[in-house]
Amino acid sequence: MKKQRLVILGGGESGVGTALLGRAKGYDVFVSDKGKIKDNYKEVLMRNEIEWEEGQHTESKILNADVAMKSPGIPDKVALVQMLLKNEIPVLSEIEFASKYTNATLVGITGSNGKTTTASLTHHILKQELNVGLAGNIGDSFAKQVLEDDFENYVLEISSFQLDGIRDFKPRIAVLTNITPDHLDRYDYKFENYVDSKFRIALNQTKEDYFIYDADDEVIVEWLESHDIKSTLLPFSLKKKIENGAYLDNDNIKITIDNNQIIMPTKNLALEGKHNVKNAMAASTVSHLLKIRKQTIRESLENFHGVEHRLEQVLKINKVQYINDSKATNVNATYYALESMDAPTVWIVGGTDKGNDYTELFSFVNEKVKAIVCLGIDNEKLIENFGNMVDVIVETQFMKEAVKIAYKIAEAGDNVLLSPACASFDLFENYEDRGRQFKDAVRNL
Ligand code: ADP
Repeated sequence: MKKQRLVILGGGESGVGTALLGRAKGYDVFVSDKGKIKDNYKEVLMRNEIEWEEGQHTESKILNADVAMKSPGIPDKVALVQMLLKNEIPVLSEIEFASKYTNATLVGITGSNGKTTTASLTHHILKQELNVGLAGNIGDSFAKQVLEDDFENYVLEISSFQLDGIRDFKPRIAVLTNITPDHLDRYDYKFENYVDSKFRIALNQTKEDYFIYDADDEVIVEWLESHDIKSTLLPFSLKKKIENGAYLDNDNIKITIDNNQIIMPTKNLALEGKHNVKNAMAASTVSHLLKIRKQTIRESLENFHGVEHRLEQVLKINKVQYINDSKATNVNATYYALESMDAPTVWIVGGTDKGNDYTELFSFVNEKVKAIVCLGIDNEKLIENFGNMVDVIVETQFMKEAVKIAYKIAEAGDNVLLSPACASFDLFENYEDRGRQFKDAVRNL
């Protein structure tokens, strides 16, 4: 029988992982990348005798596919993707493709903010007692792990772009952390399209499956009121009592599932900030469902110190705390960063604006921010919004200088916070590069 042809668009982590898995499952695999493929990935492809091309898409080698997998970075709008779809060739995401080849219990985590933190925290708890992998937008691709590691459970961090390419993907437990406007350029600038995309995580769930979500998030709650989800709902809330799910009772997180309750004091959580109480609720609800011992859950929450570039405490110099929140690439993430500041703050902000509306930050800026350092090529909007809210507002296009200015302004007891609320691409390679440059500059003070 002729082999099925699997064409993969995009030779990055998910593409190469899918190529390996596809090959092992008997497909005739072709990888095509319009840009450059990184050397280490090329080596893997060559070693495994997988055909590839870069710098172009050769249509004759692509449109003969039986099935295509596209990297989450490639928009649907691209002509080639449209051609595949017109030829009725399924265009799947890596999550969809890989999940066909595993019987593991899948925990899928999506949302606008908090995916990496919640996925990492969940994995941190589960791995104490279960055989569990962490994949999706983190580390090694899901496809590669399915092929090489074959875990019994996976925690998957899933973006809306991955969800756009699913058909049958069915997580046993789905988590939706929150929904705020992001990536609208990929959704025809329609927020409702982006919201629908996030909810695809529950698309194939049945009532034996679970859907964990933020019940304080109006967008989520409204969607649920007008749409049907078959899975068992387990909400979490900081504001109201929840019978089945998680809520905050004074300073205790209480999680109840089928009358079985676990109680955890928030003061023992290693991660700070209200958003992290929510993330802890979501991760603990997953863990409680998967029957992790209560003591294990409590201890794991106490010793999980977070992920790099997310409200990361860098150093204390002259009693000033420096905090790296470079991953805050939208207003909502910065909202929680400013909310969690418990001292006067010198705020480093700016970058590529994604159509930001800064209004929700005003009260925190008035209350907590003593000076603003704008770090971007175009800072006009920041100055317009915040110029008359603080005594000092300065501009720079160099991280080193930004940190030096902040150092001069900050006094003992203050915080210096990098939480840009913007993408990093105007001045940096990516948010990791921005965060690392910040930390280097702080260490060199
Ligand atoms: P994602 O993977 O969804 O981008 P991260 O965990 O990497 O999320 O966090 C991104 C940014 O959002 C960081 O600045 C972090 O402090 C902030 N953040 C984390 N959890 C939440 C949450 N539940 N709600 C809002 N912001 C959050």
